Amino acid sequence: MLPSLLDNVRIVLVNTSDCRNMGSAARAMKTMGLSQLILVDPIEMPNGQAQALAAGATDVLANAKVVSTLEEAISDCGLVVGTSARSRTLPWPMLEPRGCGEKLVEEANNFPVALVFGRESSGLTNDELQLCHFHVQIPANPEYSSLNLAMAVQTLSYEVRTSFLAQENEQYVKPSSDDDEYPVVEETERLYEHFENALKATGFIVPSHPGLVMTKLRRLLNRARPDTKEVKMLRGMLASVERAAKK
Ligand code: SAH
Repeated sequence: MLPSLLDNVRIVLVNTSDCRNMGSAARAMKTMGLSQLILVDPIEMPNGQAQALAAGATDVLANAKVVSTLEEAISDCGLVVGTSARSRTLPWPMLEPRGCGEKLVEEANNFPVALVFGRESSGLTNDELQLCHFHVQIPANPEYSSLNLAMAVQTLSYEVRTSFLAQENEQYVKPSSDDDEYPVVEETERLYEHFENALKATGFIVPSHPGLVMTKLRRLLNRARPDTKEVKMLRGMLASVERAAKK
């Protein structure tokens, strides 16, 4: 079978405690044509109960990759969208489910993209949410907005499929310009590290009182979404600041 664009769309489940949800998520994915499942530090490994709920999608479950950190799961992704059942104290660029499906499919033409789901009990942590370019919230009943994990996977996977089918109908032609060459997570994480080191060297960040500088910088750069060349330029600028700070 030809590799599908949907093979570039990965579903990441963080710290899932009930493996039955993994089975149901695998089934939800396969019905929508998705196959790349990553389990980050699962509390329970998939067992017979998970397989029973996966039904005809036990292959997705069997092929799931298990990693220990979210960073590992997304380091080669150019776009990462985190899911959240409620709005957080730190506002972040948001997508509607429809727009989320469109964006994931459009960018899956260029690199792997990820949709990240949180723990059944407490969702994703703020640190995990800050590793994402965008957040998506299913606009559920405000009085009870928390869907079952696998049902959230189903809803958002459906949006991915809808956009995928629309793109197939339009016979999408990949733009030839390199405008859309975004860095993968690993490269942006190196940029943030570089910023942190340089700002410590200049004294802007005081290690004992780091405050929210890095969080706000992440939000700013996320919003601007620098492309690969701009990230290179920023790193060059930081290197020159570090040299000047050493003098
Ligand atoms: N009590 C948790 C909810 C966890 S639900 C909290 O308040 O954050 C488990 C996971 O399902 C969430 O982390 C998210 O990935 C997904 N999910 C549930 N409801 C959702 C919604 N309305 N929009 C987007 N994702 C949702």
